[in-house]
Amino acid sequence: MRVISDNYHAPLVRQTSLSIVVAVYNEQEVLAHFHNQLAAVLNTLSNIKSEIIYINDGSSDDTWDILKTLPASGFAIKLFNLSRNFGKEAAMTAGLDHANSDAIILLDADLQDPPELIPKMIASWQQGYDVVNMRRSQRHGESKLKKWTAHAFYRLLAFMSDDVVIEKDVGDFRLLSHNVVQQINKLPERNRYMKGLMAWPGFKQITLEFERPKRAAGKTKWNFIELVALGLSGITSFSIKPLKIATWLGVSISLAAFFYSAFLFLETLIFGNQVQGYPSLMLAQLWLGGVQLLAIGVLGEYIGRIYKESKGRPIYIIEESLQLSQEQINENK
Ligand code: UDP
Ligand code: MG
Repeated sequence: MRVISDNYHAPLVRQTSLSIVVAVYNEQEVLAHFHNQLAAVLNTLSNIKSEIIYINDGSSDDTWDILKTLPASGFAIKLFNLSRNFGKEAAMTAGLDHANSDAIILLDADLQDPPELIPKMIASWQQGYDVVNMRRSQRHGESKLKKWTAHAFYRLLAFMSDDVVIEKDVGDFRLLSHNVVQQINKLPERNRYMKGLMAWPGFKQITLEFERPKRAAGKTKWNFIELVALGLSGITSFSIKPLKIATWLGVSISLAAFFYSAFLFLETLIFGNQVQGYPSLMLAQLWLGGVQLLAIGVLGEYIGRIYKESKGRPIYIIEESLQLSQEQINENK
């Protein structure tokens, strides 16, 4: 009798699987249109078993109801309803936690990340790349201020980031291999700046360029202050350079103060005490005060983040999860 050991696997030709992860927040105007466009692309992929994972990030409009009626032909749909708006980073984290395919692609629901590029991304992955970054060579339909600040921010982040290369002008739109997603899902932090976390594991990367179209319908979900907060979170999550800069600023100011006081001492010794110098006194006072407050603020940013991490709260809460067949997905999170 032939004994087949436990770890014997008959060679089998397995179909490649693909998960598309889409975080949605108040996208009722564009959702059906987006879904049709994505479905059309998925149905052109031969030999790939695909699924779409929609995470409803606590929408207050009809997004969840629309999601439940989307047609699934030729692919599966999984729906997750978060218990409130946790933010895009948390919603994407929820999506990645539930994506178990060979390749995972993150898409925005507003068609600014064109689904037509999916075959190209898969082709790169099939050539052996674990991460396919999508760089925006141009951004259409966005204000000059947003374009300029985004451009400046990506460069500042690249300069600041301590040990990770965070690609410039690459948003969340990218393909990740199963391996990379497993690594990202292991990262425990609650401060989830995904552009950084997705770059953190490394692996073999390629960057493709595309022109980012304008939103197909609906409005952007970020105002300027929220974008600044996201940027700050990016920098503080991936760099302690602001702390170092504060230290160096302190050292240089102390040195300058030392030499200036030596000069003042000698000047008084030689020329006597002339009561003068109100402007320089005021200037030094104000400037020092400003720098000190700034340095305390920088410290505060980091302490705030440590405080948030230390509470160890979950990153998101799933209120309801559905398969298109309307069966409950076994939820063990
Ligand atoms: N989004 C989300 N939660 C939020 C904000 C946005 O899931 O709190 C989703 C949104 O539905 C969209 C994607 O994140 O699918 C990108 O949002 P948006 O288009 O507003 O960002 P922009 O392209 O303007 O940077
Ligand atoms: Mg958008």
